[in-house]
Amino acid sequence: RAKEAGGHRCDFFDAALGASIAQRFTIEQELRRALAHDELRLFLQPQADAQGRWRAAEALVRWQHPQRGLVPPAEFVPVAEGCELIEPMGEWVLRAACAVLGRLARQGRRVTLAVNVSPRQFHHPGFVDAVRAALQDHGAAGTDLVLEVTEGVVVQGVEAVVQRMQALTALGVRFSLDDFGTGYSSLAYLKRLPIHELKIDRAFVRDAPDDPSDAALVEAIIAVAERLGLRVVAEGVETDAQAAFFARWPHVLQQGYRWGRPAPADEVLAAWPWDDGAGAPGGATR
Ligand code: C2E
Ligand code: MG
Ligand code: MG
Ligand code: MG
Repeated sequence: RAKEAGGHRCDFFDAALGASIAQRFTIEQELRRALAHDELRLFLQPQADAQGRWRAAEALVRWQHPQRGLVPPAEFVPVAEGCELIEPMGEWVLRAACAVLGRLARQGRRVTLAVNVSPRQFHHPGFVDAVRAALQDHGAAGTDLVLEVTEGVVVQGVEAVVQRMQALTALGVRFSLDDFGTGYSSLAYLKRLPIHELKIDRAFVRDAPDDPSDAALVEAIIAVAERLGLRVVAEGVETDAQAAFFARWPHVLQQGYRWGRPAPADEVLAAWPWDDGAGAPGGATR
């Protein structure tokens, strides 16, 4: 099967996807075509402060499939991560995000964009150079780019990860620890990895207003982050009750349907409440 796919070995078994091997094979072949035919799309989702003012955005990839329409990343990112396709796919997203940053910079506007980086992409030997090139080629500032990693980047030994992160930090790039709280040894990594932000996983955010245990966990995570000088983003804020819960911490950013769904990058940027008064009238805060 790997030979049919063009001689590359793809590890179907590591892909956390509820699809059969045959389905994955089909997705993989189609994904090669998608990359060649420019079928990926850059979506952005705003991250709002407690007043609902958009402060930053996360880049989320979509696949504009000719027959199936807009395909969410859960259906193809794990397949790409299981084989070498994650590198060109991830690089496409990185370059698309840097193109936005460069374009905004030339308009005198700035926004922070967070790009997801999968473990395999992070460990690819060319990754640091790819980030540097993406920034340079598009005239984007490293300080406007955040890379979201999960603790899954720490596969063997944290030292190599720290070194690689430091090489990227030297470009001004910052790191965010995504899906925080869902792994095994998150607290140990907080101490060792040069990160500047935590994203509290949606699983804790969902029930925090009602469930005292989830509320306690969220409060503890935020307290630790404050002591360590880390920024915090709560992911999956959907309801007014969740927004009000997190508004107790004015500096905690909220990302979720309550403040804006992921949408095509150009739409989100057109609605962005720029300080210069341009963009949507009155600014878009919902
Ligand atoms: P993630 O990085 O944790 O991204 C957050 C996910 O939560 C996004 O799903 C987003 O649409 C969704 N979300 C945001 N607000 C809400 C809400 O209020 N309620 C609910 N129910 N969901 C919300 P999406 O876009 O489907 O992406 C899923 C995952 O796919 C991401 O999780 C990330 O792990 C991965 N992914 C997305 N884009 C990329 C990419 O460019 N590269 C890589 N390597 N992975 C990506
Ligand atoms: Mg993310
Ligand atoms: Mg996340
Ligand atoms: Mg998540």
